[in-house]
Amino acid sequence: MRIGVLALQGDFISHLAILDKLAIDSVMVKTPGDLDVDGIIIPGGESTSISMLLQSSGIYEPLRALLHEGLPAFGTCAGMILLANSVVDGREDQMSLDAIDIVVRRNGFGRQVASFETSLTVSGIEDGPMRALFIRAPVVEKVSSEVEVLSSVTYSFADSPDKLVPVICRQNKVIVSSFHPELVGEDRLHKLFLELL
Ligand code: GLN
Repeated sequence: MRIGVLALQGDFISHLAILDKLAIDSVMVKTPGDLDVDGIIIPGGESTSISMLLQSSGIYEPLRALLHEGLPAFGTCAGMILLANSVVDGREDQMSLDAIDIVVRRNGFGRQVASFETSLTVSGIEDGPMRALFIRAPVVEKVSSEVEVLSSVTYSFADSPDKLVPVICRQNKVIVSSFHPELVGEDRLHKLFLELL
């Protein structure tokens, strides 16, 4: 089994380190030729930049096709935005990989200064709460009936106090999180993803 980590921009090194720690064979995906993998991780970073680089590298079309054929994927933060079917407040020319049926609002939790850390209960993970770091994170505004919500947070927005927001979603073999497990050395979501393969 070999897992690709999209390595165009963002914190792909942290994902590679977690796969290393789990003794999983991995490859940095930088060109379409690197896509011979059993699953792909799309890191946090800046979705608009990753979107542009996906197109200029020629990865966008073949990756989107593989995802449609069922390639398992795990996306964190910017990775969630790229995998979502629909993005609110994105750049107009921002591309979607169209792999999970959710609507996300880019930067919906606010700017860098509004970053926060919390701990989450995650369904399917029984051995204690998960630390979760949110940095300019997307807000999941809608999920289709095909999507399972594995964890949510209660968050107070200016126009809507104490709103329950999904932060980990799964549809078939695609898992996305609005936060960065990879930046706090949390490997249990990676393990959950690997179990889907
Ligand atoms: N706000 C960023 C974006 O639009 C995502 C931030 C992150 O990955 N921490 O891509």
